Amino acid sequence: MNCRHCDSRLEHTFLDLGFAPPSNAYLSEADLRKPELYYPLKIMVCAKCWLVQTEDYAQAEELFSPEYAYFSSTSSSWLAHAKSYAEAMTDRLSLDANSLVIEVASNDGYLLRNFVEAGIPCLGIEPTDSTADAAEALGIPVMRAFFGESVGQQLASGGRQADLIVGNNVYAHVPDINDFTVGLKAALEAGGTVTLEFPHLMRLVEFTQFDTVYHEHFSYLSLYTVCRIFEQAGLRVFDVEQLPTHGGSLRVFGCHHDDPRATADSVPDLIDEEASRGLRTQSMYQDFQARADEVKDGLLSFLLARKQEGKQVIAYGAAAKGNTLLNYAGVKPDLLPLVCDAAPSKQGKFMPGSHIPVLEPGVIRKAKPDIVLVLPWNIADEVADTYSFIREWGGQFATAVPSIKFV
Ligand SMILES: [Zn+2]
Repeated sequence: MNCRHCDSRLEHTFLDLGFAPPSNAYLSEADLRKPELYYPLKIMVCAKCWLVQTEDYAQAEELFSPEYAYFSSTSSSWLAHAKSYAEAMTDRLSLDANSLVIEVASNDGYLLRNFVEAGIPCLGIEPTDSTADAAEALGIPVMRAFFGESVGQQLASGGRQADLIVGNNVYAHVPDINDFTVGLKAALEAGGTVTLEFPHLMRLVEFTQFDTVYHEHFSYLSLYTVCRIFEQAGLRVFDVEQLPTHGGSLRVFGCHHDDPRATADSVPDLIDEEASRGLRTQSMYQDFQARADEVKDGLLSFLLARKQEGKQVIAYGAAAKGNTLLNYAGVKPDLLPLVCDAAPSKQGKFMPGSHIPVLEPGVIRKAKPDIVLVLPWNIADEVADTYSFIREWGGQFATAVPSIKFV
């Protein structure tokens, strides 16, 4: 396999998690009597451009099952994040009724609704029907497509180049990152701004967030590599912010390469910091597997010890992260009998691979667990707040990555 950005031959493994089913392939009761498809889950690193990437065995159509689509608006903290972003950008770029904001992977309209309310024209691009329907119900125009160069050209030739193109948690999920970036260039108005948010590889490494690895997550991005991809497409990263979302994300600001705006010091400073943390050395990547194995072993020891003590542990959050962690650790219902999740689309289903049943959160009051293991650790505080009543019977919240910790 060759690098998806620079086409060099990929020879170095960063992480090998064996085989796993697609992380959103939740199963019905009937599915449990059928065979289940597993794909290799292996991450490589390119020694030339340092793009960390999944070997893409699975087809995009198999991975993006529309039935269990994630609705961004189900997270209140994410809604608040989107609202404050919309206000900040409207102010910073002086957006008004003559501007156009395009969001790629606009989901259920969790972000663009803020621009609609402010009277700023917008367009969502979203391939999943269920979430696109929800956005349209909020008055947001949606083009149903996977974004890339051809969609970018189509927008440009239709006179719909944007003053602001937003991509939140989509850049790491596109199989062809070069084609996507060329599409951004095509759809961007002269003087326009692109902002992309994605989990920062530097934090993944720092906090051993190996559970953020799954098939649908094709790229694990450093600022250095994103700058290279932008440059090749005729764009330039002129500013970057570090965000706490998803365990540590970047928001990059991009413009056309010849835009008069100067590049802020934040860009070279962070590229230097990445180098000082070893992000452009082979040895750093070679050591990661052992660190991931330690997290896996720690979780297993913890669950086995609680079982021997007769304590009941249940999980919260049927998220992709949880599936990666549980499947790599080989956790089954004997150690973790149930997962609760607030999304009705997942309730009554079973986690792929582990076959742990997903139930509605009301079960917490009935089960009175000793420990609730929050699988999506990035929302642990929010979960501990919402279900704080478990403390009435001495219950505790815990997370497993980068090591077992009580919240
Ligand atoms: Zn490369």
